[in-house]
Amino acid sequence: MRKKLVAGNWKMHGSLAENAALLDAIKPALAGIDAVVCVPFPYLAQAQASLTGSSIAWGAQNVSEQAKGAFTGEVSTGMLLDFGCKYVIVGHSERRSLYGESDALVAKKYMAAQAAGLTPILCVGESLDERESGVTEAVVARQLDAVIQTAGVASLAKAVVAYEPVWAIGTGKTASPEQAQAVHAFIRGKIAALDAGVADGLVIQYGGSVKAANAAELMAQPDIDGGLIGGASLVADDFIAICRAAAAN
Ligand code: PEP
Repeated sequence: MRKKLVAGNWKMHGSLAENAALLDAIKPALAGIDAVVCVPFPYLAQAQASLTGSSIAWGAQNVSEQAKGAFTGEVSTGMLLDFGCKYVIVGHSERRSLYGESDALVAKKYMAAQAAGLTPILCVGESLDERESGVTEAVVARQLDAVIQTAGVASLAKAVVAYEPVWAIGTGKTASPEQAQAVHAFIRGKIAALDAGVADGLVIQYGGSVKAANAAELMAQPDIDGGLIGGASLVADDFIAICRAAAAN
């Protein structure tokens, strides 16, 4: 059976004091449960100091595709490794839509992360317009193909995919378990056509307004292997409940 993995995306939230309270609450409650928190860059050292030795890994929300050089404001994979990161989110819809990250750039970031030994959490998902026009599968396929054509299907053995319908992120509108399962099954089937073993082992997270109240139903779907959690990952009790629901399903 595939493992379930829940990752928190703190986005641009937090402070040293708020983070300390959150980490102190989730650490003992999630002892023995694999989880991840993706924190803002300045708080990586805090996450490392707090979470070393726990079952919670930490990571970043973005990374440069460049190794080093004159790239003002960018952060390299090597810098993430210096702070013990295991994971990095690439291609979050906010990076794609607000910062113009193309499929090709996301694929480069994915490759750079893997080359450094980080596990990329590759986000894919359609906008509301795209869903309403019936092109959800085409959009998700295009986003996946950009990575598969650059990095190869075998690279997905060392990655996590997060299906995040853009219309469900931060909106309070969750995809129904059936809607999410259908796209997850599409993703797994598409990859299975290229490599059944990779598809079978691939962790595909669902993201988009997951809450403590709807987590169990989503996590019970056969192709949903965990979640990428934004808002609810900032509330200790909610994040704990979601991680426990995933572990129990
Ligand atoms: C996200 O940030 O990836 C996300 C899914 O956010 P939320 O859970 O708040 O919808």
